[in-house]
Amino acid sequence: MIELSNIHKAYRVSDESVTALNGVSVKFEEKGLVSIVGPSGCGKTTLLNVIGGLDQYDEGDILIDGVSTKSYKDTDWDAYRNHRIGFVFQSYNLIPHLNVLDNVTMALSLSGIGERERKQRATKMLQEVGLGDKLKKKPSQLSGGQQQRVAIARALVNSPDILLADEPTGALDSKTSTQIMELLSEIAKTRLVIMVTHNLDIASSYSDRVIEMLDGQVQSDSKPFNEEVSVKPEENKKQKGTSMSFFEALKSSGKNLLTKKGRTIATSIAGSIGIIGIGLVLSLSNGISQKVSAMEGDSLAGFPISIPSTTMTVSSFFGNGDRSQYPSSDEYYARDTQRTSSQHKNDFSSEFLDYLGKLNPKTYNSIVYGHGVALNVIYQNGNNYGKVPSGSDNMLASLGLGNSLFSEVPDYKDFILSQYDILAGDYPTEANQLGLVVNTYNQLDDTALSSMGFAVQETYTSADFLGKEYQVLGNDDFYQENDGVYAARTDYENLYNLSGTTSLKAKITCILRQKPTSSSSFLSEGLLYTSKLTDKLLNDGAASRIALAQKATPETNVLTGQAFNRLTSYEANMLSFGADKTPTSISIYPKSFDDKAKIEAYIDEYNRTRTYDESIIYTDLAESITSVLSMVTNAITVVLSAIAAISLVVSSVMIAIIIYVSVIERTKEIGIMRALGARKKDIKRIFSMEAITIGAVAGVIGVLVTYILDIPISLLVGHLVEGSFSAFLAPQFALLLLAVSILLTFIAGIAPSAGASRKDPVIALRDN
Ligand code: ADP
Ligand code: MG
Repeated sequence: MIELSNIHKAYRVSDESVTALNGVSVKFEEKGLVSIVGPSGCGKTTLLNVIGGLDQYDEGDILIDGVSTKSYKDTDWDAYRNHRIGFVFQSYNLIPHLNVLDNVTMALSLSGIGERERKQRATKMLQEVGLGDKLKKKPSQLSGGQQQRVAIARALVNSPDILLADEPTGALDSKTSTQIMELLSEIAKTRLVIMVTHNLDIASSYSDRVIEMLDGQVQSDSKPFNEEVSVKPEENKKQKGTSMSFFEALKSSGKNLLTKKGRTIATSIAGSIGIIGIGLVLSLSNGISQKVSAMEGDSLAGFPISIPSTTMTVSSFFGNGDRSQYPSSDEYYARDTQRTSSQHKNDFSSEFLDYLGKLNPKTYNSIVYGHGVALNVIYQNGNNYGKVPSGSDNMLASLGLGNSLFSEVPDYKDFILSQYDILAGDYPTEANQLGLVVNTYNQLDDTALSSMGFAVQETYTSADFLGKEYQVLGNDDFYQENDGVYAARTDYENLYNLSGTTSLKAKITCILRQKPTSSSSFLSEGLLYTSKLTDKLLNDGAASRIALAQKATPETNVLTGQAFNRLTSYEANMLSFGADKTPTSISIYPKSFDDKAKIEAYIDEYNRTRTYDESIIYTDLAESITSVLSMVTNAITVVLSAIAAISLVVSSVMIAIIIYVSVIERTKEIGIMRALGARKKDIKRIFSMEAITIGAVAGVIGVLVTYILDIPISLLVGHLVEGSFSAFLAPQFALLLLAVSILLTFIAGIAPSAGASRKDPVIALRDN
C-alpha cells in the first residue's frame, strides 16, 4: 500500500523554479484502476514518476507499506522500481534493436533471474497479452496497439504491485484504446493500476476512482481512500536489491554492437590503426636487432680490439680551454692546439706488455703489434724516380687517404681474408712482398697512383700493378751525414739502383678489395707490407749510424742539428729510425664475441689500479659499428613509436567520441532501463563493456594485420639490405598490444559511460 503525504516537487529551469507538484496527499488501495486526469502541465506525469521512484520529491513523504522513504538511497529506489513498479508509457518506449521477447526478458535480467526462467516467464506474459506469435518480431514490425501490449507485458513480467501508465492510449485509435483499456482493467483486478489520461470518457467508463488535478494539486477525488473498506496491508514485503550480472551487461552491449555491425567494425578498424603502427614498429626493431646480432655473430666477431698509441676524446673537437665562443671584447688569443685537444696517450710500458703477454691464449687468435718505423721507399716510373710518401711526409692527409700510402698488414691472414677478396696474385707473406688495396669500385686515387710510381691513365689491368718493384731503403743508405747532421738523400735514381746493402727490392704480389659482406673497411687504400719487413727494418734500424748518433746526442735532433722543439722529439725520432721497438699500436683479435668481452675485462682489470694517465684505453671497432647501428635503430624505434602512439591516442579519442554518440543515441534506452530498475552501475557497465569489446576487436584486428603486413615488409627490407630480414612481432608483444588496446578503449569509454549512468531517467524518457 502506498501513501503520498504533502508532496512538493519543483523543477529549476534557468534560475526560475517551476512548481510541478504543490502539496499532493493521496492514499491508494492495494488494487483497482485509478485514473488521474487534468489539463496538460498540471503535474500528472511528475506525480507518476514520483510514485514510481523515477523522480525524487522535494518535500513531504511517501510511505510504502507504512514505511517512510525519506532515507531511501538510489539503490533502494532502483530495487523498488525493479520489484514493485511497472511502467507503461504513451510512446511505448521499446528498445528498437531488441526483438519482442528480448524487450520483455530485459526487465527480468535486471533482477538476476536465470536465462531459461526469463524466457519462460516472458513468453507466458506475452501470450497473456495476446502476442504469443510475435516473439521474434522487432518493435517496428508491430502496430501501435501491439507495441503497447509488449510494453505492458514488460511492465508486468516482474509481477509488480503497482502498474503506472502514462497516457497508455494517447497514441492509439479508439478501437485499439478499448482493447488496451480492457487489458488494463483485467490487470487492475489483482493489482493497483494508476493511469494518467486526457480522455475523460475512458477515465469514467473503466476507472474505479478518478483523481482530478490542477496546477500541481488534487482538485477532486471521486473515491478517497477509506480505512474501513480497505484491505489490510499484508506483511511488509522484503525487497530484494536488483542485480545485473557482468555477463548480462556484456550480452546487452554485444547485442547493441551487433545491430550496428558496420559502425562497430569501422570503429574497431580505426582503433586498430594505432595498434598496427606500434606492432609494425616493434616487428621492425625486432628484425633489426636480430639482424645486428647475426652480424655480430658472423662478420663482426673477428674484429680486433685495438689500442692505438693515442686516443682522442670527443671533447677535443670543441675544446678551446675555458674560452667561450664569439667574445665581444677587443682581445685576441694565441691557441695551443695540441694542449687544448684532450688526447690520451696509451703507455705501452713493459709492465703492460708483460701483462698482455699473460692473456689467456684460448681467448684470442692473434695479437698484432704496430710500429712507428718509417718506410723509405723509392719507385721507378720509366725514367722518373721518386720517393713514395710515407707517414712523416704528411702530404696525403688532405686526400682523405690517411697520412700514409703504406699500411702494415696485420699478421693475421685468416681475418684479412674473411674481410677482403684477393682479386689477383698471391697474398703477401715475405718481407719483399707487397699488397695493393683498391676501393670497392676497383679505384685508386690518381695522386696516390702517381705517388706510387704509376703513369696516370683511365684504366689499368692487374698486370700493370703485379710485379711492380720498389726499393726499400735502410737508414744507412737513405741518410747522408754532413757535419753531424743527417739529411735524406734525394738522388732517387742512384738510390733505386743500389744493391748489396741494407736495402731490398720488394714487389707487389697481390691486389685486395673489401668483400661485399664485410662490415667495415679495415685496410686503407694503397700499399700493404708484411710484418716481416717491419722486423727487418727494426733489426737494421737499431744498428744504423743515424740511430746511434741520435742516441749519443739525446738533446739534439740529428735531422736538423738543433734542439728538439714542440713538433719533434727524441722518442719520435728513435721510433721512426726503428731503433725503439716499443709498439705504437696493438690489435687483439678475439676468438668470439664472448672472448672479446673477456679480453676487455682483462684490460679493465689492468686499469682498475691505475690512474687515468697510466691506463690503457682501447676501442672496439665492432662495438662501435654495432653501437652506432643500435643507436640508430633505437632512435628510429623511438620516433616511429611516438608517431604510432599519436595515432593510438587519436583512435582512442575517436572511440570515446563514438561511445559518446552511442550514449546520446541510446538516451531513451538508458531511461527505459532505469525505469525498469537498472542501477547507475549497470548502465556504466554496459557502456564500458561496449568500449572493451571494441578495444578487443581493434586489438585482434591490429595484431592480425601486423602479422600479415610483416610478410611484405620482411621481403621489402630483405631486398633493400640484400640479405634475409624478418620483421616479426613477438607473441608477448602481441598480447601486450591486445591488452593496451583494451585498456585504452576502456579508459576512452570511462567518461562517456559515466555520463550515460548519470543521465536523469525522467529527462531521458521525456526526450521523445
Ligand atoms: P503533465 O504530465 O500533467 O502534462 P508534467 O508533470 O509533465 O505535466 O509537468 C508539470 C510541470 O512541470 C509543467 O509545468 C512542466 O513544464 C514542468 N516540468 C516537468 N518536468 C520538467 C523538467 N524535467 N524540467 C523542468 N520542468 C519540468
Ligand atoms: Mg504528461
